[in-house]
Amino acid sequence: MKNIDSYLEYLNVEDKSLDEQTDYFLEDGAEIAIGMTIASLIVFITGFFIMLTSLLIFKSTSKIDVKLSKKINEILKDSDWKVYVFKHDTPNAFCIISKTIFITTGLFKILTKREIESVLLHEAYHIKKFHGTKKILMKNPIIVLCLPLLLIPGVGILIFLILTTLLKIPLDITIGRKMELNADSYAVKYGYKKEIASALTKLINKYKKNIAEKNHGKLLQVIVKINEMIDEHPSLKKRITNILKKKEIYKPGLTLQKTKSLFLKK
Ligand SMILES: [Zn+2]
Repeated sequence: MKNIDSYLEYLNVEDKSLDEQTDYFLEDGAEIAIGMTIASLIVFITGFFIMLTSLLIFKSTSKIDVKLSKKINEILKDSDWKVYVFKHDTPNAFCIISKTIFITTGLFKILTKREIESVLLHEAYHIKKFHGTKKILMKNPIIVLCLPLLLIPGVGILIFLILTTLLKIPLDITIGRKMELNADSYAVKYGYKKEIASALTKLINKYKKNIAEKNHGKLLQVIVKINEMIDEHPSLKKRITNILKKKEIYKPGLTLQKTKSLFLKK
């Protein structure tokens, strides 16, 4: 009551009835809550919309690989997975949402067939565990809290971008890296221990070679180093150590039933 009185005094609205007075307080708190909820929803929908749009763009510029699609469905005992090949020299693989995996033509140049399959399993895990959507949800509060910065005239966008990038680092190097290690372990589970280890080694070495070849200036070298430190992908050493610790469960060429019985005998 005391609070209400002082608030009314401050607003200079002594003649209001008690019902109306309490309404003032409810509106204040409720407005902020509603505003934050709407902002969160808008940020989430925007993130999801960007994912959907990029999925459509990549699909329209890639070609489906029938053999690899068949193979990944065979391994996962499923039927909806599709592998798309994207024309680009940089060896890479990525997924967005839905049971769709994208790989670049550059990947075929450095990886063997089984190494590519191990990479597909890594990507399949990201999709199965909704890592893309989880990342949007995780970063949602950061973006929402930084939204008012956009109102600063001129430099607002820059400050917003810098701050949201900085604030997401702790999430990337903890939860993001854990997601990557678990995706590697998933490939091991399907009998691809050797292949996922060699695929990662080849990919990371190729990436390092590319950077070295481009002969960047000192400043760019520092930026690359910092980027590696804050990247959501763990270091090669960490990834290989994690892979070596994991056990293969489903051996290639065996049915799940046979593998289970083999393990039970051991
Ligand atoms: Zn990954």
